[in-house]
Amino acid sequence: KELPADPITENSRRQVMGACYSFVKPKQPLKPSLIHSSDEMGANLGLSQADLESKKFLDIFSGNSVLPNTNPYAMCYGGHQFGNWAGQLGDGRAINLFEVNHMDKQWALQLKGAGETPYSRTADGLAVLRSSIREYLCSEAMYHLGVPTTRALSLALTGDKVLRDVLYNGNPAYEKGAVVCRVAPTFIRFGNFEILSARQDVATLKTLTNYTIRHFFPHIKEGAKEGYLQLFKEVSERSLEMIIHWQRVGFVHGVMNTDNMSILGLTIDYGPYGWLEGYDHGWTPNTTDRQYKRYRYGNQINIGLWNLYQLANALYPLIEDAKPLEAVLNSYRENYQTKYLSMMKSKIGLFTDHGEDAELLNRLEDNLEMTETDMTIFFRNLGRFKKSSKISTSLPPYITDAFYAPEEVQGELFNTWKQWFTDYSLRLNKESLSNIQRQEKMDSINPKYVLRNYMAQLAIDEADTGNYGLINELYQLLKQPYQEQEEAEKWYAKRPEWARHKVGCSM
Ligand code: AMP
Ligand code: MG
Ligand code: MG
Repeated sequence: KELPADPITENSRRQVMGACYSFVKPKQPLKPSLIHSSDEMGANLGLSQADLESKKFLDIFSGNSVLPNTNPYAMCYGGHQFGNWAGQLGDGRAINLFEVNHMDKQWALQLKGAGETPYSRTADGLAVLRSSIREYLCSEAMYHLGVPTTRALSLALTGDKVLRDVLYNGNPAYEKGAVVCRVAPTFIRFGNFEILSARQDVATLKTLTNYTIRHFFPHIKEGAKEGYLQLFKEVSERSLEMIIHWQRVGFVHGVMNTDNMSILGLTIDYGPYGWLEGYDHGWTPNTTDRQYKRYRYGNQINIGLWNLYQLANALYPLIEDAKPLEAVLNSYRENYQTKYLSMMKSKIGLFTDHGEDAELLNRLEDNLEMTETDMTIFFRNLGRFKKSSKISTSLPPYITDAFYAPEEVQGELFNTWKQWFTDYSLRLNKESLSNIQRQEKMDSINPKYVLRNYMAQLAIDEADTGNYGLINELYQLLKQPYQEQEEAEKWYAKRPEWARHKVGCSM
């Protein structure tokens, strides 16, 4: 209620001026049915198991009915897409239902795929089952990995058919429509500020920024330049921290447009994301970005900075001084080297500082790029390497297990690896932790289970036939990604050959 709202209350597509959001009504689904709900997220909101299974829950979280005395709304935002200003975007298929305060936490609940809004542009406001499964499973998996992220409460079928660009025997194929309810303290993005600034609507920009500070950064003083600057500094720090986590677990977002950058530094918008299998800085899951690979794994930290430049420009009218904004951006640039190094060091069990560390890691990354190596398995298994381990004629099997073509690691390449492990073993001797202590610590940093692209695909294929067992199996598995789970050993495996060039798609 505190933000300027669009006085028009119909869903027709339009440019919305002088407002941060528009009231909208979710589309009524033809025949809604629940596929899955998160007991844990439910508990955060004060919902019992019985609540989650109730008809009322399905009604509300499929968009079938609106809770009395609530006013669903879609937000207005803009964004830089693939480096270019794209003008007004907005919640084209997301509808905020209401906010919940529970146990001193505030949550916004948002339906994704519940029909058109003023911001739908040329699209339909809907979501298909496959992309909804991918968002539902991955956002919860990221949360349990310790990565800042939006979360998910429920996944439901709408019973409607949705047309996407997938062809079947050359004909357009209809797909099952679905709705995810996602949850975060707020879904405000960089783009919410950018659109107001681009329109030179400084009054509304100020209202939005003060609102953001008051609700989500309450320790900052609102209404003053220093406060706006402090907000920018904290957003910058949180964004960097989030991306360093992505690098740690091998997550590639795929569409780091500024409209997909949360003001809280949360991972948001699970579209064409993917998980590194072979460790490769040049990899991107986004098939529309194959030429320039702007959003490749090895470029995510840089793009974070580029996006922060756009946010700095957007906030400039409130601060009117470029110097302190530039100082924040410079400290991102300076910090990221040290933060990245210390994160990578922790992945190989180095917790003290020595001059040779950066070089040792550079050489490891070179080796990993030369030999197609499964990132998750390599780092997890590296915890088994002992201080005294010596390499003579072969690498330990728990290391070669991570190679996609172990037979190729011979001759010169073998020697390179051997040299690295020899130096690594010497370096480990400078660490005070025992082998067991180090492995324990590494096991809390290097996940055992991640949502590999083919795993999500298997769950999608099964769900297409009306069977949701695998969704639940993966959901449960990924609640404890750092725990050994004996019965789930099959998910601790390299990508099967059939899945080599397949990545999940987005829309
Ligand atoms: P994304 O690339 O997913 O971040 O989306 C960019 C913009 O397109 C956002 O404004 C989305 O809300 C909008 N959008 C994406 N898919 C749809 C859809 N099926 N219907 C309406 N708007 C969409
Ligand atoms: Mg988006
Ligand atoms: Mg998206």
